[in-house]
Amino acid sequence: MKILIINAGSSSLKYQLLDMKTETLIAKGNCEKIGLADPVISYKHDGKEDVFKGAKNHEEAIKKVLDILVDKDNGVIKSFDEIDAIGHRVVMGGWIFKESTLIDDKVIEQIEKLSEMAPLHNPANAMGMRACKKVMPNIPQVAIFDTAFHATMPEKAYMYAIKYEDYEKYRIRRYGAHGTSHRYVVQELARVLNKDVKSVNAVTCHIGNGSSITAIKNGESVDTSMGLTPLQGVVMGTRSGDIDPSVVQFLCSHKNQTVDEVLNYLNKECGLLGVSGVSSDHRETTKAAVGGNKRAKLALDLLAYSVKKYIGSYLAVLNGTDAIVFTGGIGENSAEAREQILENMENLGVVLDKEKNNNFKRGQVELISADNSKIKIYVIPTDEELMMARDTVQIVKKLKKSK
Ligand code: ADP
Repeated sequence: MKILIINAGSSSLKYQLLDMKTETLIAKGNCEKIGLADPVISYKHDGKEDVFKGAKNHEEAIKKVLDILVDKDNGVIKSFDEIDAIGHRVVMGGWIFKESTLIDDKVIEQIEKLSEMAPLHNPANAMGMRACKKVMPNIPQVAIFDTAFHATMPEKAYMYAIKYEDYEKYRIRRYGAHGTSHRYVVQELARVLNKDVKSVNAVTCHIGNGSSITAIKNGESVDTSMGLTPLQGVVMGTRSGDIDPSVVQFLCSHKNQTVDEVLNYLNKECGLLGVSGVSSDHRETTKAAVGGNKRAKLALDLLAYSVKKYIGSYLAVLNGTDAIVFTGGIGENSAEAREQILENMENLGVVLDKEKNNNFKRGQVELISADNSKIKIYVIPTDEELMMARDTVQIVKKLKKSK
């Protein structure tokens, strides 16, 4: 079975074609700067990379991607018919979608209705679906939600202590994000522990440009650090993470800015970038810190300390755990970040093996805890697209059975 995975943003559309018989990637690429000047489409396959002229809109982008995939000389499939289904990433499933769902017109409308909670993402995700429906009307499409994995959180974890009537009326609550990544790594963890995922407890740390920490009990999310929006939680590349809401009012009045402007600032100008003044990129900030830049060092300290606090609180929530898992661009690649986050946690049963941590092999599942660590520590590279393709396969198989 071949599955096309689409991750549509407002001006980009990332795609991957996977062969699910072997769970291998056939080709992937990105349509960048859709509708802007000089749009381009990249196409990676068989160890090569090509770049093509891009598209004016999402529909044209899909058409061009399909043309590239079936191209006589450079294509990887002979015709569209080889694509069995399409899986779409959706950022916000809100209170409506608790699992991956077969797409029809009503589902697309509901995804659009949830745009208020993810204004940058949901409209673009829906646009990608409409474009695919137009170009390939007979191919089943599946929506995979970043929030769905967290639908199992209990009320006490997802509620904010605001007036109950407002929670009911406006659905203001924690929804979380990165659910597909947390779900993938806990399944991988179950595999390496040789356990049924339903009996695995873990604290999973997805640390990238955006970051979230999740407490997983018996394979299900019971708490996560991101909230109504991805602004809440740990310190990130450009996001402040947790902050006293009074700071918003304070900044509004002192900088004479609107709430929207201050929220934009907290999302895009803070975090590593804002504190260091160097970069939102962890590698760049680390380089500056090593070179003696005190603010860069402070930014890294803030990030590591915020992750440590979430891990600690989730160890309390779970009453201990089988493992702590690191994933995401920083979690997978930065031995320094992992060491800084986990230092001085021995009394909680968390002991890093510094040598294993430093000598880990990139792109592989690695056990990096010391033999005497009560809690195992793993690096597990995430693969959200594979998880999405697995969901798509499952739903399409059910669909075929019911026909
Ligand atoms: P996104 O949240 O946008 O998907 P990623 O998960 O790709 O982000 O993470 C991006 C972050 O990962 C950046 O801060 C980058 O510096 C960091 N990163 C990527 N590779 C490395 C590396 N080899 N060492 C340290 N940090 C890395």
